[in-house]
Amino acid sequence: MICYRQEVSIENVCATCCYKVEPGDPNPLFLEEAGRVLRAGGTVAFPTETVYGLGADATNPAAISRIFAAKGRPLDNPLIVHIADWHQIDMLTLKAPPALYELGRRFWPGPLTLVVPRHPDVPPEVSAGLPTVAVRWPAHPVAEALIRAAGVPLAAPSANRSGKPSPTNAEHVKQDLEGMIDVILDGGPTGVGVESTVLDLTRTPPMILRPGGVTREMLEEVLGPVDTAAGLENETDPPPSPGMKYRHYAPDSPLVLLEGEPREMVEQARRVLGRVHAEGRRAGLLGSREMLEELPSGDGGPDFRCSLGSREDLEQVAANLYQALRLTDEMRLDLVLVESFPERGIGAAIMNRLRRAAFR
Ligand code: AMP
Ligand code: MG
Repeated sequence: MICYRQEVSIENVCATCCYKVEPGDPNPLFLEEAGRVLRAGGTVAFPTETVYGLGADATNPAAISRIFAAKGRPLDNPLIVHIADWHQIDMLTLKAPPALYELGRRFWPGPLTLVVPRHPDVPPEVSAGLPTVAVRWPAHPVAEALIRAAGVPLAAPSANRSGKPSPTNAEHVKQDLEGMIDVILDGGPTGVGVESTVLDLTRTPPMILRPGGVTREMLEEVLGPVDTAAGLENETDPPPSPGMKYRHYAPDSPLVLLEGEPREMVEQARRVLGRVHAEGRRAGLLGSREMLEELPSGDGGPDFRCSLGSREDLEQVAANLYQALRLTDEMRLDLVLVESFPERGIGAAIMNRLRRAAFR
């Protein structure tokens, strides 16, 4: 087996093995080894179509606690359980609502997570003690093959240190978790680039707890009207989803979200850049190709610029977002300015992540 960049911690116990896998034709030996690690209670990072996940056996409380420890994740933030077979639903819930099957038939495998009543045999640690459990069937050949090799559903949050942008390639996973997890399956960059939509089916009407790859418009085609938790973060205690409480997806430097029409955002950026430079500090800009053309570097412009793609192609913007946020960390900026995008389709997910990243 190829084992590269294996590092050993000071105590000589924590090595992370990284295996390169071809998404179209993953090496069965690597999958078998990763499956063995999972059955033994270990942790494996793997690609999905959204971002990289950090998986552990969802039926094993000790394995689940390793996920929380490696990520530094607050214990009250529940995990999504990943399946790759319809019969695994019955292990996770006794009362699957009909909408689960309607939505599953339409969007699974895919970037949609459904919150349903938790089966009494599912360890409460998975759901941070909630009576519900979040379930998703990921659309990635490596993720599906890994779940089958493990033979159990996998609890798997995003494979980043808690609070950081989610990983969209294996290098990001290494930056955050090398030495703290057992295996990384490197299947190249992910596709969608932002996490799954989380839909709570225990509410009437169902409520979008987190916007993602399956948009509100797509869900409403199947279910009729759905609610959204957007804006309810501070309205109810506890909030509709525990994850809403935390700053997330954030680079090291403070992030300022530009708002308004494109022209207003350009003017706002110029004003902020003027102030930042007058104080001898450095600011970066993440934005569309169109906005970057209006704000060239040099002569009072941004000290670092990163294009997220065209403003007309929000899928591309979503796919580039986390990589760009991580790049700003390497540039050691004092401030990062980020363009706002229209909240239609996947734009709702982009803006949800940017607002949370800007939250202090
Ligand atoms: P992550 O997998 O790290 O991207 O985060 C999963 C998201 O799903 C977090 O925002 C959690 O709070 C949310 N979540 C997971 N399980 C539940 C649940 N049972 N009820 C409500 N929200 C959940
Ligand atoms: Mg996450």
